[in-house]
Amino acid sequence: MILKCPRCGKEAESIGNPYRPFCGERCKMLDLGNWITGAYRIPTTSTDEDEDGEPAPPGKDSEKE
Ligand SMILES: [Zn+2]
Repeated sequence: MILKCPRCGKEAESIGNPYRPFCGERCKMLDLGNWITGAYRIPTTSTDEDEDGEPAPPGKDSEKE
């Protein structure tokens, strides 16, 4: 199955690809780097400040097979 790398848009084989859905290690690392540097919004549960917020269910990501 061919997936499109969400980082660079390059088509990559997903079967046997440990870096899927990315095309390779580089794109995966770049994506992780974005998480670390805060390029993505990471939902935080500030329960110690405000307790009327809904708890974020784990794995609510839109990632689908
Ligand atoms: Zn890529």
